[in-house]
Amino acid sequence: MAAGIDLYAAVNEHFGFDGFKGTQEQVITNLLAGRDTFVIMPTGGGKSLCYQLPALVSEGVAIIVSPLIALMKNQVDLVRSYSSKDDVAHFLNSTLTKKEIKEVHDDLLTGKTKMLYVAPETLTKQENLEFFSDLQISFFAVDEAHCISEWGHDFRPEYRRLKEMMDQINPDIPIIALTATATPKVQSDIVKNLGLRNPDIFISSFNRGNLYYEIQPKIKKDQTVKNIVKFISQNKGKSGIIYTLNRKTTEELADMLMANGIKAVAYHAGFDGKVRADRQDQFLNEDVQVIVATIAFGMGIDKPDIRFVIHYNIPKSIENYYQETGRAGRDGMEGKCILYYSHKDVSKLEHLMRDKPLSEREVTGQMIQETVAFAESSVCRRKILLHYFGEEYKEEKCGNCDNCLHPKEQIEAKDETVVALKAIKALDERFATEYVIPVIMGKLTPQIQMYRHDQIAEYGSGKEKDQHYWNSLIRQMLLHGLIQKDIEEYGLLKFTKAGEAFLKKPKSFKIVLNNLYEEANADDDE
Ligand code: ADP
Ligand code: ZN
Repeated sequence: MAAGIDLYAAVNEHFGFDGFKGTQEQVITNLLAGRDTFVIMPTGGGKSLCYQLPALVSEGVAIIVSPLIALMKNQVDLVRSYSSKDDVAHFLNSTLTKKEIKEVHDDLLTGKTKMLYVAPETLTKQENLEFFSDLQISFFAVDEAHCISEWGHDFRPEYRRLKEMMDQINPDIPIIALTATATPKVQSDIVKNLGLRNPDIFISSFNRGNLYYEIQPKIKKDQTVKNIVKFISQNKGKSGIIYTLNRKTTEELADMLMANGIKAVAYHAGFDGKVRADRQDQFLNEDVQVIVATIAFGMGIDKPDIRFVIHYNIPKSIENYYQETGRAGRDGMEGKCILYYSHKDVSKLEHLMRDKPLSEREVTGQMIQETVAFAESSVCRRKILLHYFGEEYKEEKCGNCDNCLHPKEQIEAKDETVVALKAIKALDERFATEYVIPVIMGKLTPQIQMYRHDQIAEYGSGKEKDQHYWNSLIRQMLLHGLIQKDIEEYGLLKFTKAGEAFLKKPKSFKIVLNNLYEEANADDDE
């Protein structure tokens, strides 16, 4: 391809940057040498440049596969704004008219276009394949490459056919695959399915050492708001985002902050474009200190000095948590990430998925459980986050999270775990936590009376411990995989193999008592 070019001059000429971030330069050199390249880099790491710069300095056009039609146009606009030549980048997808497609084809044939963004569907059309076969192509880029794997969070079956299509167009062209999230399983799926030839893999660390992670119990709404106000007052003049689950809460919370003298605005997808743009500007220009938002806010926001991100509700997945907290401290300086956690919020999330198809419920349910496990764990937060992305954090403690700085006390619960397992078994694994606990505690409810479960030996077998204790234990048994919740009839407690093994040969099982998380936020009716 393009040997001997000065990449520093090129990045400065085309993008106005002084140099490269992270692995960018090695990635670009590798690709320009004609080698298959695999880039794993967290969001904001600068993946786009890894194929945009090589595209600009190479002969021919780079074909960039991207799954999101909505983002394609933004990407193309961005590239055009850098270069001030409109024909340098184009996209082809189902939103274009015949006439527009013709214009794109013309620009491609004259060789003016350096980057062509396509949807995977575009590549599966025979007429396109034939057209592309006649072009000089510099390389293929597969963005959001995790879409190829069922084990990724966003599986797209069309991605599975990419290799076949690329081979039809021209099997000798180098491929660069990029993703922000790839567990080891997803990584090997990507290499295999794209048929990457002895690829060089560039993995950036996902560790954000400057971010401090803390989980706080979310007790009553008043108290939580008070805590947030106190926190913000201690961080005077510092910008922050508060994420909430729903739109109404963003407005209520922003009002409450204002009432406490904090400059705050709400932001969600229900406001029209102008209001959203204004509020975003206010935040960027620091006319307001805090933006209270749904997850609609933040994509593509480039404010390097956000000093805190507060989650007022539990995020939907660990990945969401990582992305959302990741908006703090982009400049490498302090960033505090506080999550207010309650079981009620978890139930709300679970409730939202009740009407979804089974397969989706399964995946989302698992993601929620992983987030709960993260929130309730007493292990270093950073260790868990990085483990999630397939990265081993070598140290036992990071020293910059709540669990490292204030370790929680653990208590032995071996005997009680046996009590709970026996009760679940005696109830034929046909009941949910809300039924199992009163049986264990020997509390007679009309239903227990009806099923005559007050007659079984396990009734009252754990009456010396309270409700909090049993709730906490059962949750941690779920987290450690001793039992699981049935998926079809969501909530029924079932045994796992590990649970069976435990019952046969009980061993030490230590738990943390998170009583505070139990408190129902009674006046919180979002
Ligand atoms: P990703 O796709 O990995 O999320 P982007 O490609 O959107 O990341 O880049 C994130 C931000 O970093 C953008 O604002 C981009 O302009 C900036 N950026 C990328 N490369 C460089 C660089 N070499 N120097 C300075 N800023 C860069
Ligand atoms: Zn830690």
